[in-house]
Amino acid sequence: MIGIGVDIGGTFVKFYVMNEHGEILRKEKMETLPSIGADGFLRQIASFINQIKTQFSGQPIAVGVGAPGDVDNQRGILRYNPNLPFQNIDHWPLADILQKYTAIRPYVANDATLATWGIYESLLKRQGDNVLVVTLGTGVGGGLILGKELYQGSNGTAGEIGHTKIDCSPSAPLCGCGERGCLEAFVGTIGIRRRVMESIRRQPHSTLAEMVQQEQNFKIELVSRAAEQGCPVALKIWQDTGFFLGTGIANAVLALDVDTVVLTGGVSGAAKYFLSETQNVLNRQKIQTPFKNMKLLVSQDPNMGGVGAAMYAIYQELKK
Ligand SMILES: [Zn+2]
Repeated sequence: MIGIGVDIGGTFVKFYVMNEHGEILRKEKMETLPSIGADGFLRQIASFINQIKTQFSGQPIAVGVGAPGDVDNQRGILRYNPNLPFQNIDHWPLADILQKYTAIRPYVANDATLATWGIYESLLKRQGDNVLVVTLGTGVGGGLILGKELYQGSNGTAGEIGHTKIDCSPSAPLCGCGERGCLEAFVGTIGIRRRVMESIRRQPHSTLAEMVQQEQNFKIELVSRAAEQGCPVALKIWQDTGFFLGTGIANAVLALDVDTVVLTGGVSGAAKYFLSETQNVLNRQKIQTPFKNMKLLVSQDPNMGGVGAAMYAIYQELKK
């Protein structure tokens, strides 16, 4: 069986062609061009799928599509996405349209959810029964494996740990979702940037402050570079990030009792500066049972969205 994984992003679409042994046979990247319009965009994806169908004719083909945003995985509809550069795509029936163009019904799910399956199959080799994956970037998302199966919830939105609350005070920072006090408002890149700017106002002569003032655009890497040079302000920003993240993870683990937590996404690249504090928060929990043997891991593999989409489609087809 051949699996095609399509990882849709705001700037690029990535394609992964895989076999059932988890080997990547082909990898492609295509720019997400606003000028071709939503239908032209899906026709391009369909044309890639049809090309693979011809190349592997005679073999069964399974297709998985990961899309950012709010996805109805049952019906294959992208309910809402603010980051794709197309007009009028609310309630976009991705699965129906791609099926019309390719004659294959794709499995469509949230991208972080399918990346979770990629991490579970390809990196963890299905070790562990219950796994929480936390994606750390501009947004903070995630996915869940419960009882060795991908758990998407009643509406396809399970794993949205970024919008669980870690601060209920009226002055808690505002999140992109419109609520206050979400985990994402503390450990997403916008939340980290806010704390960096506050620290610069308080300590304008720190190494971090000087680095940020020299650069045109703020980048999270600056906080890591300053931390690398021993800047106490930068180290404190990462330590606080680790603390907030630990608080969010502890809440999820208390609710779900998972055996493994995997951190992934761009910000997880700075794990060496914040992971020990995250682990400290977990070690300090008074109800220790779910934390005692829980593994906290980091995966920096950027292929997991597409790999997970391909492998999940194969897995579902072989189960039939
Ligand atoms: Zn939020």
